[in-house]
Amino acid sequence: MISITADFECGNAKNVQQIAIDRFRLEVVGDKASYSYYFCFDVRNDGPPTVLTVEVWPDPDFGPEGFVVTLPTTVWIGSGDRFKPLDRSRVRNFEEPLLVRLNLRENETVRVTNAWPAPYSGTCEFLRNLADVRGDRCELFTIGTSVQGRDIPGIRTGASGKPGILCGAGQHAVEFTGTWGMRGIADFITSLLPDAVALREQVQVEVIPVVNPDGNVMARNAFNAEGFDMYRAFGEDPDSEHPEAHESRLLWNKLVEEQPALWMNIHAFVGWRNNGEYPYDGWYEVVDPVFRDPGRARLYQALCDTMRLETDGMSTHGRANVHRENTMCYQMARRFGIPSVFYELNAATAGPYGSAKRAIHVFKRAVHTLLNSF
Ligand SMILES: [Zn+2]
Repeated sequence: MISITADFECGNAKNVQQIAIDRFRLEVVGDKASYSYYFCFDVRNDGPPTVLTVEVWPDPDFGPEGFVVTLPTTVWIGSGDRFKPLDRSRVRNFEEPLLVRLNLRENETVRVTNAWPAPYSGTCEFLRNLADVRGDRCELFTIGTSVQGRDIPGIRTGASGKPGILCGAGQHAVEFTGTWGMRGIADFITSLLPDAVALREQVQVEVIPVVNPDGNVMARNAFNAEGFDMYRAFGEDPDSEHPEAHESRLLWNKLVEEQPALWMNIHAFVGWRNNGEYPYDGWYEVVDPVFRDPGRARLYQALCDTMRLETDGMSTHGRANVHRENTMCYQMARRFGIPSVFYELNAATAGPYGSAKRAIHVFKRAVHTLLNSF
């Protein structure tokens, strides 16, 4: 007997049906148009070895648009916390539904997904472990708890009183490459690498890998538990005093209070079919003259030059995407002159290790520019 479930942390699938002896059908659970593509489900085979086809359909509530353009180059298959790319001959991904063919061994359970999950619980454990093992150079902190009561922890290191760098990911919770990237940055900046040791004398760094824990656990493409998009933090009202989502307000209050020298925000790049292929990532910038102080404007331009010339963020767009007025990045720049680095790691091709390496590179180049622009 074969069964499919998505009832676990970061699991995403609904309306699972067996439609033939060797064929299942399921739908992804989306949030809104263009944010309805992520799936992650377990297939359990309690019988003899068999071959199974799984049809993965878009969320009928939002249509195929956001699903088809982000059909992955990679379907990951794994068990426990380890995944590998499924051979491409086993994935038909040029139209809906996505078809995944699986060879199942006797009594085997496999997890199938289009984004290597970075579960909240594992990230909390990772941060606690860093604070334990490297307690001489870093500490845990929290910005509060989510709507559903989950802690939002981060790791802090470096020299207090030096320029602050606040790093966060997971606004769009299933853009897991961002969270993996942040874990890489946390590991790097608390490590004994000479570059990291030197940086800890020059800056203070705070890394929050999962700013939307409820979204992570519930596998939300765009929203927090309240149904708000943390990236478009100010919703329909860019002039509002506070962002909409509870977790956005926690982050915003910290930014307002501490006024870091740099805010680094990592998302995932999921538009490969239209405009990106490995190794391309993506990035966004604020283009209006929002920085009133000429020195801040010049620093921001230098950071944009860094992204353009020294990273893979350009993608096949050949240019940066643009932050709208309702984003936190825009409002931080306009109201407080805080520059941001907003980078998107290619979700189609990066797992934890690739994401970490790429995020660390972006972080190092951005901090280099920051320190040499003062
Ligand atoms: Zn995003």
